Amino acid sequence: MLLDRDAAEIGAMAEALRPETRAFIDGEYRTGSLGESFTTENPATGEAIAKVVLCTGEDVDAAVTSARTAFEDGRWSGRSPRDRGRVLLRLAELIDEHREELALLECLDTGKPIRDAYTADITKSAAMTRWYAEAADKLYDEVAPTRPDVLAVVRREPLGVVGCVTPWNFPLYQAAYKLGPVLVSGNSLIIKPAEQTPLTTIRLAALALEAGVPPGVLNVVPGDGPITGAALGRHPDVDCLAFTGSTATARRFLAYSAESNAKKVCVEAGGKSPHIVFPDAGDLDEVAEAVVWGIFYHQGQVCSAGSRLFVHRAIAGELLDRVVLLAEALRVGDPLDPGTQVGALISDRQRRRVMDYIERGRAEGARLLTGGHGTRAGTGGHFIAPTVFDQVRNDMTIAREEIFGPVLAVLPFDDIDEVVRLANDTAYGLGAGLWTRDIDLALGVAARLRAGQVWVNNYDGSDWSVPWGGFKQSGTARDKSLHAIDEYTAPKATWIQTRPPAPFTLVTR
Ligand code: NAD
Repeated sequence: MLLDRDAAEIGAMAEALRPETRAFIDGEYRTGSLGESFTTENPATGEAIAKVVLCTGEDVDAAVTSARTAFEDGRWSGRSPRDRGRVLLRLAELIDEHREELALLECLDTGKPIRDAYTADITKSAAMTRWYAEAADKLYDEVAPTRPDVLAVVRREPLGVVGCVTPWNFPLYQAAYKLGPVLVSGNSLIIKPAEQTPLTTIRLAALALEAGVPPGVLNVVPGDGPITGAALGRHPDVDCLAFTGSTATARRFLAYSAESNAKKVCVEAGGKSPHIVFPDAGDLDEVAEAVVWGIFYHQGQVCSAGSRLFVHRAIAGELLDRVVLLAEALRVGDPLDPGTQVGALISDRQRRRVMDYIERGRAEGARLLTGGHGTRAGTGGHFIAPTVFDQVRNDMTIAREEIFGPVLAVLPFDDIDEVVRLANDTAYGLGAGLWTRDIDLALGVAARLRAGQVWVNNYDGSDWSVPWGGFKQSGTARDKSLHAIDEYTAPKATWIQTRPPAPFTLVTR
C-alpha cells in the first residue's frame, strides 16, 4: 500500500505520473478553442507540474450544448434511477481502484500530506459517490392529500444543466460533493475546477466515462475564475450553478445569475468558526487535540476550521499550554512523506496573505504564543509554522476575517451569554464546536449558535449522511445527505382530474 512506502519511493511514483491536462467535453478530451493554457504548480516546491487547457467562453458554450443535448435526449435523465445508481456505483469502485494515482495527483496539486489525500480525500470521494449511488432507487415521490376527485402527483424532477465551480482545498472531494446528488437525480453536469488544482477532476471525467456515464453528462472545463468560471456563471442555458469557494466569489455568482437567466445558485462559502471550551470540558488533553486538528488540519485551509478558540478564563492557561505543545510537535514537512502532518499552503500568494494577517495580529495587540513565521525555507514551497495568538479581541482583524491558513486566535471568556454573543458576532455561520459535560448547557448553547453544524465534545465530525452547509454569509445550500438532492431537483406537480368516486351502492340479495 502507498503509505507503507517511504518519501523517496512515493516521490518516484509521483514523478512518473503523466497527468491529463485537457478539457473533457462531450465524452472526449479536447484542447481549448484558443489554444490557451495555465500552469498548475506544486505548492511544496513552487515548481510547475503541467500546463493545463484554459477554457474560454467558446469551450464553455460547447460544454453547455453537450450537457443540454444529453439532458434533452434522455440518455441519462431518461434512465431509471436504479440504472443511474449502477453506473455511479461503478464510478465509486473506479475511484477506489485508482486511489494511489488520484492521491498522488491531489498531493502534488494541493500540497496536502499524502496521508490525508489518500485516507481522506480520495477514500471519502469514493464513499460519497457510493452513498448516492445506493440511494438512487430508494427515494419515493409524493401524492398530495387533495380532494378525492383529484390525483396530484408530486415528482422530484432534475433541474437540467448544472454548472459547478469548486475551490482548491479539497478538489476531488468537492467535485464528489456535487457529482453524486447532481447525477443521481438525472441532471447533466459541467465542473470548473479551481485553477490551482484541476488534475484530479480532469481525471475523474475519464473514470466516469469508463463507468458508463454517457458523453455529455459530465464535462470538465478547466480554467480561471474571471474567464471560465464567469462564462459558466453567466451562461443563459445553465439552469443551476453550484458554487463552493469564498464568500466574495459567491456574491459574484449571485450577480452573474441576476444579470443572465436568474439561474438557481447554490452557495457554500467561507467561515470563521468558533470553538468554545467551557470549564467543565473534561479531559483537556482530548480537547487540546481537537483544537489543534480543528485549526491546523490541511494547514488551516478548511472552510470549517475552528479558527476562533473561546476558552473559559478558569482553564485558559491549562488548555493553552497543551495546545502550544501539540502545535509545536506537528510535523510540517514534504507532503509526499507519509509521516508529514502539515504540508504547504496552496500558493505563494496565499502564504503572503497569511503572513500579512499574522503581522496584523501582532500590530493590533494580540500575543503570539507560537509560530508566526515561514518554515522549510529552501524547498521553494509555501510553508508556515502552526501559529497561535492569545489575548485576541473579537474586533481584531484576525478574529473577523477568514485567514484560511494555520493561524489560531484565542479569546478568553467569562460567562455563557458573553460567549454566545461573541461566537455569533461574525458574518459567517458555518461550523461551531463546544465542550462541556453538562447536557443542558450543551443543548442550550448549540441551539443559540448560528451555524450550519454544531459539534459537541468533538470538532469537525462529518458524514455523507448528514447535511453540510452554512447560515449567514457561509452559504445558502446543503451538501451531503438526501437534502443535497433537493438542491438539484424541483418538485413538479401533475394534477390529474379523476371522476368523482361512485356513491356506495348497497347490494341486497
Ligand atoms: P475562490 O472563491 O477564490 O475560488 C473558488 C472558485 O471560484 C475557483 O474555481 C475559482 O476559479 C472561481 N472563481 C474565482 N473568482 C471568480 C470570478 N470572478 N468569477 C467566477 N469564478 C471565480 O475560493 P478558493 O480560494 O478557491 O477557496 C477557498 C474558499 O472556499 C474559502 O473561503 C473557503 O472557506 C471556501 N470553502 C467553503 C466550503 C464550504 O463547504 N462552505 C468548502 C471548501 C471551501
